[in-house]
Amino acid sequence: MRPSRHLYACIQLFLAPLLAAQTIRLHVDLTDAPRNIYHAHLEIPVHEGEQALVFPKWIPGNHRPSGPIGALTGIRVEAAGRTIPWRRDDLDMYEFHVNVPAHVNLLDISLDAITTHDSAGGGGPAASANVLDLNWNAVVLYPAGTLSADVTFAPSVTLPSGWHFGTALEPTKTNGDEVEFSPVSLTTLIDSPLIAGSHFRKIELSKPGESPTHVMDLAAESDLDLAMSPKDLAAYQKLVAETGALFGARHYRHYDFLLTLSDQVGGHGLEHHESNDSVEGERSLVDPELGMLYGALVPHEFVHSWNGKYRRPAGLATPNYQEPMVGDLLWVYEGLTEYLGNLLAERSGLWTEEQYHEALAGTAAALDHRTGRTWRPLVDTARSVQTLRMMGPQWSSWRRSLDYYPEGELIWLEVDSILRQQTHGQKSMNDFCRQFHGGQSGPPKVIPYKFDDVVKTLNDIAPYDWAQLLHERVDATSTHAPLGGIERGGWKLVYTDKPKRLHRRRRKTIQVLRFLVLPRIRRR
Ligand SMILES: [Zn+2]
Repeated sequence: MRPSRHLYACIQLFLAPLLAAQTIRLHVDLTDAPRNIYHAHLEIPVHEGEQALVFPKWIPGNHRPSGPIGALTGIRVEAAGRTIPWRRDDLDMYEFHVNVPAHVNLLDISLDAITTHDSAGGGGPAASANVLDLNWNAVVLYPAGTLSADVTFAPSVTLPSGWHFGTALEPTKTNGDEVEFSPVSLTTLIDSPLIAGSHFRKIELSKPGESPTHVMDLAAESDLDLAMSPKDLAAYQKLVAETGALFGARHYRHYDFLLTLSDQVGGHGLEHHESNDSVEGERSLVDPELGMLYGALVPHEFVHSWNGKYRRPAGLATPNYQEPMVGDLLWVYEGLTEYLGNLLAERSGLWTEEQYHEALAGTAAALDHRTGRTWRPLVDTARSVQTLRMMGPQWSSWRRSLDYYPEGELIWLEVDSILRQQTHGQKSMNDFCRQFHGGQSGPPKVIPYKFDDVVKTLNDIAPYDWAQLLHERVDATSTHAPLGGIERGGWKLVYTDKPKRLHRRRRKTIQVLRFLVLPRIRRR
């Protein structure tokens, strides 16, 4: 008989810290990656009696219950060579119950992750014949009721023969295609994806002797795709330097830019404390026009190490992956990252000034004509990330979409312009970033914040009724997009019938006419 949920919860509360103190061994066999299936084996310390194990449900950076539970398959539980029955919870599809027999203290669990839909939220497959992306949340179970920071994993992988890998994890032993990593908390494991490929390149972005180090790990469909131009190399090096100047501190021990170049796998960018896991088009390094389209992706994901990972909205700073997330401050988490990422794309040279303006004009024009502005305040697009994220484009003007990204960019541009105006050019968002995201450099940690913390930091820099401004922009409906930042900077959104380069290429790439008239901003 299964205990009642209340009794069961009490047992879990008592046992969870004991179980969490022991290390879970995890081996992932990636040799079948080209067929889009990963085979995992876990050794989980347990005690006699009812044990509940959970599969991560709420995935950081996705901000929603996107843990790929439907793709979890081939589950087999054994102890001392005997098969142990398991049972999925009646209500929680992410929870599994096992009745551990007497004298058994270790469960051997085998499971497979089908990766035809990647677990980084990109939609497409996680692997091809030449590249793979391992997000550990797709291959782990952990004791229910534990804090992810308290559970230790000793991870290892077997790579497809001859493939090379990149990850922020520390390898401790390599034997052919077998790699072992230092034991880490579940928090760090899920924060440290691994990419690998048969065509692979590692590029140092830091100068010799510089600390922390920055490395770009590139996995591609062919060697030809790996030919980064000296101009792009200089831009990525400058991106690192620009973030140092902007934030004044780094909250990682070392940083890995994990960049996959492929048209075969799901396109995504997913942020982490010590790495980002981004996918660009196969030829984005060798086709300058395609590279331009992706110019702001890596800067955006890099900014998240400060804005999103180190400073995180309290509702997204959850203690494990079963706790629901609250997305109401995503206009800061994503909107400010969009603003800073695009700025850094220009400051580093990945975009020209003109391309930055084109992108901003496209954003402003698209938002200014969203009919759904009349019924849906911006904050509701953030709270609704769970339901909006995977919706298609149909009726998106009336429905609104993940508008907290682009409209957040406009709001933060406006905030920046007010800071500059109020202080006669003495202060700007650069000061906000240093104060809000800077502090002491060191290993990853999370400092949660609420709306009032954002307002307080702004007021420390320049007194203003920031709370009212932000409530108006975020919580109220409005018929037009907030273009105050563009206009206060001396620019104006105008429409012409001649497409600029960025829009032309966007149209060619996605084969959709996004804007019937082509927006641009002109200096007033
Ligand atoms: Zn983002």
